[in-house]
Amino acid sequence: MSLIVQKYGGSSVADAESIKRVARRIVDTKRAGHQVVVVVSAMGDTTDDLLDLAGQITAAPPSREMDILLSSGERMSMALLAMAIHELGESAQSFTGSQAGMITDAIHGKARIIEVSPLRVQESLDAGHVGIVAGFQGMSRESRDITTMGRGGSDTTAVALAAALHADACEIYTDVDGVFTADPRVVKTARKIDEISSDEMLEMAAAGTKVLHLRSVEYARRFGVKLHVRSSFSELEGTWVIPDPKDTVKIQEGEPLEQPIISGVSHDASEGKLTITGVPDVPGKAAEIFNLIAEGAINIDMIVQDVSMATKTTNISFTLPGEDGERAQEMLNAHKDSIGFESMDFVPQVGKVSLIGGGMRNHPGVSARFFTALRDAGINIGLISTSEIRVSVITDVELLDRAVAAIHTAFGLDSDEEATVYAGTGR
Ligand code: ASP
Ligand code: MG
Repeated sequence: MSLIVQKYGGSSVADAESIKRVARRIVDTKRAGHQVVVVVSAMGDTTDDLLDLAGQITAAPPSREMDILLSSGERMSMALLAMAIHELGESAQSFTGSQAGMITDAIHGKARIIEVSPLRVQESLDAGHVGIVAGFQGMSRESRDITTMGRGGSDTTAVALAAALHADACEIYTDVDGVFTADPRVVKTARKIDEISSDEMLEMAAAGTKVLHLRSVEYARRFGVKLHVRSSFSELEGTWVIPDPKDTVKIQEGEPLEQPIISGVSHDASEGKLTITGVPDVPGKAAEIFNLIAEGAINIDMIVQDVSMATKTTNISFTLPGEDGERAQEMLNAHKDSIGFESMDFVPQVGKVSLIGGGMRNHPGVSARFFTALRDAGINIGLISTSEIRVSVITDVELLDRAVAAIHTAFGLDSDEEATVYAGTGR
């Protein structure tokens, strides 16, 4: 028998009719021979309404009370859903986050999961019930208080339960057919993506794509949970989000479940840096510059533009293969007047050092430690660029090895033994 975790978002359980519809779907899954665990969000806009209500009482609600208030939204939907399932002739039991063993830290409003021990949910399944769990909430062992995990956190509850229960599938039901190539509410011609890697989904979620809670994607990537994002309003296949086995780890007893995983430090000394100064601060200049660069088939990596200032000009810097630097300058110089920039500065070789790992975005401490390590090593930073799974900076090429070592040590990556290099210079 397979075990399926299904998560239904607020718009899927917005009113009594919707709750009945969702119950039907759950019962169908159960009757098809599966064990089913359901995670629910609060009905419709309940969470916003509760926030509003608190706002009418006080401008500064104590965070402990806020979490108790907000957690009640999910309690309503889980109990009503259990009733609707009973009405269809199957049995269901609902559980709050703390009953379901969602143990978090004590940070109200953005608690992180430390441990998941869903013993009661497992017992309920073994006894033949559908287990229903309230989304986005847990309990801190330290403070013994109810916590919530932040807006949209129910996705993360579902993924965490799927990982802890070794579920065969984790279905995230929402009000669109899956993950789209752009927000289908904005771009009518957006296409549904059938399958996407966890890495790409992570970048999309970090860049604002809202179908999935960022933390749920991180969690699923780390513990190898396959997600199926689909609509609760249709029977269509949705989007599969597939983790890469090389990124996944096993749940370790006693290790907090949500923490950044640093994979390693990469560096590159093959790039140069070109800075174009005094570029008119009007639309279209970056397009002119990068069209020229593209015509020259020059691959660029990091791009940085200064803040627009009162001077009405700006500086644009980018990195490019060192050997392409001369050519890029010639091409740009040939269009100096039409682009209207003042001058160029080319550094033929710079160092790029990058820290790679999952979960950086939700752990501001990672960048803090990264920049502190560089400071302590006396290394000045040229450009900075970040992504969900990477922070990169440009340094003087002479300082590159020192930067790599400093960051490596700062993140506890140093091993006790010396690595063997059998041959080659690493160039
Ligand atoms: N009800 C909470 C919210 O609206 C959690 C969730 O929906 O995932 O943010
Ligand atoms: Mg919601």
